[in-house]
Amino acid sequence: MPASALDILVQHSLRKTTVRMQVLDIFLQAKEALSHNDIELHFNQLDRITLYRTLKTFEEKGVIHKAIDGSEKLKYALCSGHCSEHAHEDHHAHFHCDHCGKTICIESMHIPAVQAPVGFQLSGAYRVLKGTCAACS
Ligand SMILES: [Zn+2]
Ligand SMILES: [Zn+2]
Ligand SMILES: [Zn+2]
Repeated sequence: MPASALDILVQHSLRKTTVRMQVLDIFLQAKEALSHNDIELHFNQLDRITLYRTLKTFEEKGVIHKAIDGSEKLKYALCSGHCSEHAHEDHHAHFHCDHCGKTICIESMHIPAVQAPVGFQLSGAYRVLKGTCAACS
């Protein structure tokens, strides 16, 4: 994983802005998937549109990916560094803690290639592990 927020912006040819730097720092420190709300809590004043656009840009550029965890919340997690624009490589499982609701990437657990039934079109495949995280057990 890249060392700093600036490294990540440079790697993905993204212009440096205060909000982008701050949001990346929050992800780097969190070490878990974050929802829109989780990120908003770190800001005193930030309009939702700016944050929404920042996350959308990050996702498009391969900086963050959706961490599907089986809960209602949409969460994002930092990509491993192999992702680029329109080419995400985040085919790994996510662990969701039933207790605290934390979601983390399990990058060592790859999702095997799956075949959709004849006539069906696959748009995604997710693997979710549920249970209790280290902090809660
Ligand atoms: Zn990715
Ligand atoms: Zn937990
Ligand atoms: Zn992930």
